[in-house]
Amino acid sequence: MEIQFLPGVGPKRAQLLAKELDIKTIGDLIRLYPFRYIDKSSFVRICDARPDMAYIQIKARVRRIDLYGNNSSTMSEDPSSPLKYNMVRRMSVWVEDGSGDMEMVFFKGIKWMHEKLKPGVTFIFFGKPSAFNGKINIVHPEVDAVDSEKMAKAAAATGATMTGVYPSTEKLKNGGITGKVMNRLMETALNKGLHEIEESLPEYIMRQCGLVPLHFALRNIHFPSDAVSLEKARYRLKFEELFYLQLSLLKQKYVRSREENGIAMPRVGEAFNKCYEALPFPLTGAQKRVITEIRNDMKSGRQMNRLLQGDVGSGKTMVAVLTALIAIGNGYQACIMAPTEVLAQQHFKNIQKFLEPAGVRSALLTGSSKTKERREIHQGLEDGSIGIIVGTHALLEDNVVFRNLGLAIIDEQHRFGVEQRSRLWRKSSAGAPPHVLVMTATPIPRTLAMTLYGDLDVSVIDELPPGRKPVQTIHATEGKRPALYRFMKEQIGLGRQVFVVYPLINETEKLDYQSLEAGAEDIMNKFPFPDYKTAVVHGKQLNDVKQFNMDAFAAGRADILVATSVIEVGVDVPNASVMVIESAERFGLSQLHQLRGRVGRGSEKSYCVLMTGQKLSKESRHRIELMCATENGFELAEEDMKMRGPGDLEGTQQSGLPISLNIASLARDGLILNAARDTADAVLKADPTLHEDRNQLLRKELRKDKYQIKDYSKIS
Ligand code: ADP
Ligand code: MG
Repeated sequence: MEIQFLPGVGPKRAQLLAKELDIKTIGDLIRLYPFRYIDKSSFVRICDARPDMAYIQIKARVRRIDLYGNNSSTMSEDPSSPLKYNMVRRMSVWVEDGSGDMEMVFFKGIKWMHEKLKPGVTFIFFGKPSAFNGKINIVHPEVDAVDSEKMAKAAAATGATMTGVYPSTEKLKNGGITGKVMNRLMETALNKGLHEIEESLPEYIMRQCGLVPLHFALRNIHFPSDAVSLEKARYRLKFEELFYLQLSLLKQKYVRSREENGIAMPRVGEAFNKCYEALPFPLTGAQKRVITEIRNDMKSGRQMNRLLQGDVGSGKTMVAVLTALIAIGNGYQACIMAPTEVLAQQHFKNIQKFLEPAGVRSALLTGSSKTKERREIHQGLEDGSIGIIVGTHALLEDNVVFRNLGLAIIDEQHRFGVEQRSRLWRKSSAGAPPHVLVMTATPIPRTLAMTLYGDLDVSVIDELPPGRKPVQTIHATEGKRPALYRFMKEQIGLGRQVFVVYPLINETEKLDYQSLEAGAEDIMNKFPFPDYKTAVVHGKQLNDVKQFNMDAFAAGRADILVATSVIEVGVDVPNASVMVIESAERFGLSQLHQLRGRVGRGSEKSYCVLMTGQKLSKESRHRIELMCATENGFELAEEDMKMRGPGDLEGTQQSGLPISLNIASLARDGLILNAARDTADAVLKADPTLHEDRNQLLRKELRKDKYQIKDYSKIS
């Protein structure tokens, strides 16, 4: 039923609800869950109120009301002439409860409130306290007459003392849909609409997993009869949400694996063995385990779709090379795709030394490959004489054709969509889609990986090569700059190199360049040529210039590289031992972690210095502290996810997911997610096509639009 026909709504409010909360039907409204609950039976004393409290309820007597006009002057109430409310800009209501007094402030709805609030009368005020001029006030509180307290008491007798607080916006409040109104609408909606909502989980799953029925859950999520019922309601709704998400992801995986449409690669092959024997170091246990997982996929006859996660420096390139050599050993070609030209070049350079002993012909194809060279590469790919091709998006161009592409390795997943990937396999005459290995250096919390990549298998390199020295991370502010420069000189004196990185959040932002330019100038003054050599790299330089400067640093001809965050994906300079990050508070956790990963690659002790302003927001401070406390990318990713707060709308959940979750949280509901995934897996194991009678409901649910998203594994 359309929301406008719900008593208390009407066309105007219906429009508002649709616009602000995307609520169009009564069903939609019922699915808007409170994001917190307040106990309306208890009051806070004014002297105990703090600005960091979320919502408080105060019972207090109105002492005085002041009305202010345009120029903040007090408007005297002249009883002989009627008050001109349209002249009033602000109303200040002073209330007292015996423990202290507090100001209630109104900028809107003044006439109505002014007529309601009479000095000497006690009311119940409800709202969010804030600090103003050293005192605490509440702006636009909800106001109840005290006799409604009787109703609250009556409600308390039945057990319902908790009241839901719903996502809201300024516009909703201005349109009269306050929290109180929302509660009333919700009650009406449940009474009118609940019976039309059908149970959405099969009996047997509810029984197995100890879940309460949907109607019970919906009633109690809005009007909990007690804490236990609320918990049961929440668990059921979260479980259901995560269960269907996992079921849809796993079903895709099951379908794919049943179709067995992969290229069987039974051999390890000579190329692999030769390369393996010539390795300058033993593989880490994690590398070995991951290669075994990959090897098993490739020989299975099913298409591999695997995500390889590993922190910066964990040795993913090695795994990529050995994987490519398995394809070669079975008579197929392999390609390695990187998101940028610099990265592609670096990959190409890095893998040469490993490919040499294996005797495999490889090539690099990027946007700047010369025409003649390009033609030769096209030829080599078509006739199969090139075994391994490294490149950028240039590999996707129409005139690139493979003889038999058996494997696509994609670095830095988040820049390639699934669509681009599938373009790759239409270019080959291998007869079946190539195996796909996606590598990402951005650690993703496990729960998020299970959702974003639920249809992929995941391998994790959770061990760094031995002999890696930890990077010491230090937080410093401007006053420490002279000491920082002394330290840099000391390190350069020892023959090491230093990165200095400036944030470049927005390529076009002038300010960012200005701070980089000023910083570079300062460095060149304090580190004068020819004693010190400084290279500068930023996005506004021509590619050649950028490359020249980058190379100078990589080859050790420059001691200091001043750069914007473009180096985030790029250079591998083992001799660099210091990473200075300027305005570190402007970077996100994962970006800081990526940048830090640029040092500590050699055998020398390395340092990361986070320079920030004196004043930091609570969140920035927390980020900086975390960076100083841990080097574990997965830990940081978990924290990052917990910190990424709600969006514009109070109470909404994380954004950026392929499916938006309504009640479950990937950051907090890991255990429920595990249970939901296990249940989904068991259901599919027993009935892969969901054709049993008892699973009819599941099939029906999965047909809903929100589960029809194909592109799960695309991050941005
Ligand atoms: P990632 O791509 O995961 O960031 P790389 O593959 O670039 O990491 O490896 C980082 C460095 O560690 C490289 O110099 C590489 O040669 C080296 N390396 C890789 N595996 C090992 C290992 N098992 N033992 C020692 N060094 C290794
Ligand atoms: Mg790498």
